[in-house]
Amino acid sequence: MSDTVKYLLDESRIPKAWYNIQADLPKPPAPVLHPGTGQPIGPDDLAPLFPMALIQQEVSTEREIEIPEPVRDIYRQWRPSPLFRARRLEKALDTPARIYYKYEGVSPAGSHKPNTAVAQAFYNREAGIKRISTETGAGQWGSSLAFAGALFDIEVKVFMVRVSYNQKPYRRALMESYGATCIPSPSPETQSGRAILEKRPDHPGSLGIAISEAVEVAAQSDDTKYALGSVLNHVLLHQSVVGLEAMAQLELADDYPDVIVGCTGGGSNFAGIAFPFLGEQLRGGRKVRIVAVEPAACPSLTRGRFAYDFGDTAHLTPLVKMHTLGSTFTPPGFHAGGLRYHGMAPLVSHVMDLGLIEAVGLHQKPCFAAGVQLARTEGILPAPEANHALKGAIDEALKCKEEGVSRAILFNLCGHGHFDMQAYMDYFADKLVDQDYDPDELAMALAGLPSVAA
Ligand SMILES: *Cc1c(COP(=O)(O)O)cnc(C)c1O
Repeated sequence: MSDTVKYLLDESRIPKAWYNIQADLPKPPAPVLHPGTGQPIGPDDLAPLFPMALIQQEVSTEREIEIPEPVRDIYRQWRPSPLFRARRLEKALDTPARIYYKYEGVSPAGSHKPNTAVAQAFYNREAGIKRISTETGAGQWGSSLAFAGALFDIEVKVFMVRVSYNQKPYRRALMESYGATCIPSPSPETQSGRAILEKRPDHPGSLGIAISEAVEVAAQSDDTKYALGSVLNHVLLHQSVVGLEAMAQLELADDYPDVIVGCTGGGSNFAGIAFPFLGEQLRGGRKVRIVAVEPAACPSLTRGRFAYDFGDTAHLTPLVKMHTLGSTFTPPGFHAGGLRYHGMAPLVSHVMDLGLIEAVGLHQKPCFAAGVQLARTEGILPAPEANHALKGAIDEALKCKEEGVSRAILFNLCGHGHFDMQAYMDYFADKLVDQDYDPDELAMALAGLPSVAA
């Protein structure tokens, strides 16, 4: 049909296996190193933090990894998620581009994060784990893991970055509704938290600090594991359902993307939509341009260094090679809390280094303007993070108009903004500023990178 707006798949079309890009890379990514010895770590080094099934997925080079039936069963609640053709947005932009968006805001927590939260809770449950500690920025990950914990009867303890804890009380309430505990970070509950508070009692927090606190809690107790909502290979793996479904849906539309756009915090929703297509390209299929959009104020891919760094501020994690701003870097307090991480997924960093993807940095105000335009055309008000992908896609569509060519643009509308209304109110009241990162802070954080031969 030439005027179709949404492409829907039946529940039976939920993917049966996740797609693992490690099978198709022209060159393997750099190994993860032990911070003490500088040697590659083995599965046992990660065992205090993660169940073995997830550690195996972390290093697997199998192309397809079967999705356990209990996980697929829960996916049924919102998957396959719809793929929309943004016909009214196209008209408003007066562009010849064909704009498609995969909408992950239909999940119970309102974003793509439950795709991995449910899988992680399942494997922890299988391993007999009773408690999981984690961190959250804007609260999307915390509420997703809280939801998954409720389904698998696992206690969830969430360290929430303090600025977001104060900005987003309803996210906190959602986590508590699912039965989780939510603590503002830095907190007095951990050594890492106390050390930061001593130096700066009003510290706004950062994902790096919250990760330190959650890792510390998990490392200290046998029945508690840690879960991360982004960055790690197994998280990107679980998110591949997004791109795999989009592929089948674009087939229904008899189309194929020329450009794929996603926002990047830690890289998981971006990899989720892009990697299945990139894999096809690497296996000799059609070439597709892939654009990562990050905040100009936390620009790991565009301004960071591709180097070994810690995943957290207190340096409790192993060393991973990634695009990083330095683990002590604290970005200004802009509203896309999910994009305030100093590093980038090693797999996303690796394909960036190989020249397989591009990256751009955008300021928040034009992104909010794009979000409002989407609300007024398509009716969906995106999460501030998702606005970055949307704005990136709109810019691509406007390029099509300038050049007078029609391209298919696919972007990941990775979450709705219903818990982010304060941010929109601030935007309407013209209270938002397009703050840049502090160049001195960045220089200092980069100078503090660990010295490891890469
Ligand atoms: C967490 C989150 C992000 C950032 O994480 P990625 O791993 O980069 O996807 C982006 N958008 C939304 C809606 C989120 O919840």
